[in-house]
Amino acid sequence: MKEVRTRFAPSPTGYLHLGGLRTALYTYLYARRNGGKFILRIEDTDQEREVPGAVDMIYQSMHLAGLTYDEGPDVGGEYGPYIQSQRRDLYKEYAWKLVELGAAYPCFCTRERLDEARKAAEAKGETFKYDKHCLHIPLDEAKKRIAAGEPFVIRQNIPTEGKCGFDDVLFGHIEVDCATLDDNVLLKADGLPTYNFANVVDDHLMGITHVMRGTEYLSSSPKYDLLYDAFGWEKPVYVHLPVVMKDQTRKLSKRYGDPSFEDLLHQGYLRDAIINFIALLGWSPRNDREFFTLEELEQIFDLEGLNKSPAIFDVNKLRWMNGEYVRKLPFEEYYRLALPWFEKAGVGHVDTRRLAELMQGRTEVFGDIPDMVRFLAEMPEFDNELYTHKKMKTDAEVAKKALTFIKPVLEGIGEWTEANIHDVVMAAVAESGMKNGQVLWPLRIAISGLASTPGGAFEIAYLLGKDETLKRLNASMAKL
Ligand code: GLU
Repeated sequence: MKEVRTRFAPSPTGYLHLGGLRTALYTYLYARRNGGKFILRIEDTDQEREVPGAVDMIYQSMHLAGLTYDEGPDVGGEYGPYIQSQRRDLYKEYAWKLVELGAAYPCFCTRERLDEARKAAEAKGETFKYDKHCLHIPLDEAKKRIAAGEPFVIRQNIPTEGKCGFDDVLFGHIEVDCATLDDNVLLKADGLPTYNFANVVDDHLMGITHVMRGTEYLSSSPKYDLLYDAFGWEKPVYVHLPVVMKDQTRKLSKRYGDPSFEDLLHQGYLRDAIINFIALLGWSPRNDREFFTLEELEQIFDLEGLNKSPAIFDVNKLRWMNGEYVRKLPFEEYYRLALPWFEKAGVGHVDTRRLAELMQGRTEVFGDIPDMVRFLAEMPEFDNELYTHKKMKTDAEVAKKALTFIKPVLEGIGEWTEANIHDVVMAAVAESGMKNGQVLWPLRIAISGLASTPGGAFEIAYLLGKDETLKRLNASMAKL
């Protein structure tokens, strides 16, 4: 059996979007599962679309995602270079080989001629197709024109009749009339290849056995197989992965502000949760299991579990899953990750370890933390209506009485520990004949201004400290 070799081949056009991350993940997993090699190739032949710094961002994203590649621009390998713009000469050589084989031809048509032909086609309601105008120029004449410096491209010579097809693992055998295909440019006037050509040359030269990419390449794949056939090369196994949708109506897309992988990390999602979630966007283990580490996925990922209908990116499901991962974190790890968010909310001065204990079970995404704890730094505005709680039998009137009663009790506490606050307050309430809730609910509202908080009255009073607790209490009583 031949060694499995897969590649992830992003174009450096910005952050890794989630559809891209999924392709990278499946490609990686398939190689690992089969004891093969995973290759990173940078497809930068469309230099107009290139975003400066994007190549480094790709390395970084792959690193953050934990998708280690065996060969790639920054790690080397036998089949390099792994950046397409550094493989110029190879494409040129192979493009001319195709010309010799009759499967491609130089074309000198000017932009004006092509624009006119395109307009004419559009006016007739047809899709523009190159008319093979330059196919009939004898090769030696073409070579003379090139030698004289005339600009040219090399186009694929697609058969005008018969069927062109290819096989895909998910979509089966796909066939189209060759006549519907266009003689696409393989080598541009700047000497760089188009994707249509470079992907075939590189996949072959790099020994890629399984090509996994988005379904947007399904319609061009018959053309790629024509190229493999013309060269007499063995074709890879194709797996076209269905798009990742935002909802029923549209694709997940950065243009609409959908998050990239890095955005999710910045928002406080955990790498492992994102990977777990993404793995299940279009693949299933065919049982009910939902939680997988990357290492576990490496053991079980298979093509049989792939789904060919589009996957929907349900951010609520990701939130839920992330929450499950957060709860399972060892406390020290949770604390390390939560601390910067506490600081961001301006509550770095409280007992953050205690706060973290109260918060771990309530955190779904780390980015939610500031909004949940900010009240410890700054007393929110609140309405006295908040004192009304049917079950606790409290309202503003009860609150007034309870707070007046509890204030001197709190003032009398010497050592401001959570245990002390608890014991002293509970003892006083028991003696007073009031119900616990009728004191504790108003107290918590009076010092937090919120209906829902991490921890109850004792924890919050403790975190605020004695001075701040009494200050808030006074202010709230004045409002009653
Ligand atoms: N460079 C292509 C892209 O970013 C990759 C397609 C492929 O994997 O062949 O969409």
